[in-house]
Amino acid sequence: MSFTLATPATVAEALRLLADRPEETAVLAGGTDLLIDLEDGTHRPRQLLSLRRLPWRALRWNGPSLTIGALAPLAEIEADPRVQRRLPSLARAIHAVGSVALRHRATLGGNLGRASPTSDLIPLLLVLDATLTLVRTGGRRELPVDAFVRGSRRTALAPGELIESVTLPSPLPSEYLWQRVRLANDISQVGVAVARGSSAPEWRIALSGVTPRAVRLPTAEKLLGQGLPAPLALELAAQEAARRAPFATDKRASEAYRRRLVQVLVKRAVTSLTSSLPAAPGTEIHRARRVAAARRRPPGKESR
Ligand SMILES: Cc1cc2nc3c(=O)[nH]c(=O)nc-3n(C[C@H](O)[C@H](O)[C@H](O)COP(=O)(O)OP(=O)(O)OC[C@H]3O[C@@H](n4cnc5c(N)ncnc54)[C@H](O)[C@@H]3O)c2cc1C
Repeated sequence: MSFTLATPATVAEALRLLADRPEETAVLAGGTDLLIDLEDGTHRPRQLLSLRRLPWRALRWNGPSLTIGALAPLAEIEADPRVQRRLPSLARAIHAVGSVALRHRATLGGNLGRASPTSDLIPLLLVLDATLTLVRTGGRRELPVDAFVRGSRRTALAPGELIESVTLPSPLPSEYLWQRVRLANDISQVGVAVARGSSAPEWRIALSGVTPRAVRLPTAEKLLGQGLPAPLALELAAQEAARRAPFATDKRASEAYRRRLVQVLVKRAVTSLTSSLPAAPGTEIHRARRVAAARRRPPGKESR
């Protein structure tokens, strides 16, 4: 296989090179996925367009909103102190990806461009209402991540278009949990992201690893209701999540195991999130926390 390698220094030049030969060009970011495709021959481009010189690596906070350049290496996002403080779930989800070495090369734009059904980042971006900014010669548009990812390795990118950045509107309380056989360099059998928003639906749940694309689960979200969910509501929501998606058996896990994982991980993720949120007085969780706190107090110390 032979191809030309282009490493444009400006966005305009990159877009021109892409627009000239959209069907024959492969876009290269960190290359952790693409280079494998080139090696095994699933992709045979005539032109390789490397984005590495484009100025799309920065993380920019604008009030509560965070915009991440498509070429930001995952390791840089994970290590950013403000991400760790304001969006720890994103740092944790990134930590799940591959290995340390891989995260230094792999980019956020590449994870979205790949649109893998087992992406550890797409479910979290879904519950956080992330939006992508896409650019092409003479134009720019914004698309919610839900509309961008169309299926397994299928996206809404038009010919000649590139992902410029990803914006998270506000750092909602959120959690991402996953299960896999090996801790590093393995792919999640199931990933579960949950977030608590300020508008309806208050709770958001998304799964990866079970369908061709990560999905939100509106019925299970509604079952969690308003405020901190009671144990029964959580149980019903977790059961609904495990029933809902069209699970499949493959080399990583059986259908039955995946269903069980979803049920367990939804409960754990919601519980982990609620344990970090304030509970309204009078609610079941508030009472349960008071009982637990009383049990932890040394004898003789009364609560005020
Ligand atoms: C050993 C191994 C383990 C892995 N483990 C995990 C894991 O645990 N979790 C997980 O989620 N993923 C995992 N991955 C997948 C991979 O690491 C990620 O998807 C990574 O984020 C891809 O980023 P990249 O920059 O390397 O993309 P590249 O390989 O450069 O590109 C991937 C795709 O996106 C397109 N693309 C890249 N950037 C842009 C852009 N700005 N605009 C338009 N299109 C673009 C490319 O054309 C290509 O089609 C693993 C991969 C390997 C090889």
